[in-house]
Amino acid sequence: MALVPGVRLVVLGKQGAGKGTQCVRLSHHYVVPHVSTGDMLRGEVKSRTPFGLKVKAIMDKGELVPDELIVEMVSQRLGESDARARGFILDGFPRTIWQAEQLSEMLKPDRLDVALDLDVATEMVMRRLASRRVCADCGTNYSVTAPPTVNWTCDVCGGEVVQREDDTEDAIRRRLELYERQTAPLLEWYRKENLLVSVDGTGAPDTVSRRCVEAIEAHRHAGAPEGA
Ligand code: AMP
Repeated sequence: MALVPGVRLVVLGKQGAGKGTQCVRLSHHYVVPHVSTGDMLRGEVKSRTPFGLKVKAIMDKGELVPDELIVEMVSQRLGESDARARGFILDGFPRTIWQAEQLSEMLKPDRLDVALDLDVATEMVMRRLASRRVCADCGTNYSVTAPPTVNWTCDVCGGEVVQREDDTEDAIRRRLELYERQTAPLLEWYRKENLLVSVDGTGAPDTVSRRCVEAIEAHRHAGAPEGA
């Protein structure tokens, strides 16, 4: 039986495009850690670390945490043995071109396999974000139309399922504005690096996961030498 290869993957897409859900599935498929900067930051806030206290107000408003702080956090995480051995799936990072440049520096002499763009129209992500609910403990995603089985208690860990503090109307608008201004240009940046693969992010999670894996593998094999 063939072993599943690891992967070094960045997942891009608007807030609410389904990055979290697909990253969890892809991390199981490729057996690599799911590195979500949003989850890491929310963990710091929850534990009330000095770093968490510093970034909470920024996050609640939907603004971006300063580049240097995020790059340092990601660089430490990618230096850990699981990520060094098999790779990683980055979710929520990079969000600016500067962060993308720092990531390529961090990875040298290796490079990413793919920057995967989950493409979903703005009207649809607005609707998804307004109805999104998450587990306050493990971050599993739900929605008002697909709630946990019992009384807003997480099916995975038993934590409380709540609305994210930055899923308010004002913060959603601000985050999508920042996405267009700072993160959308990354698509072009990765296209020039010949790493960009776009996938239709609409439809059932299983269908989208299948599309993602097919697109990642097609891109990898297109770049591989004959017979590899
Ligand atoms: P997310 O869960 O990816 O939507 O991230 C939640 C919040 O964390 C964002 O609105 C930012 O305040 C902060 N954040 C997460 N990742 C980054 C990043 N790469 N650069 C700057 N801020 C970030």
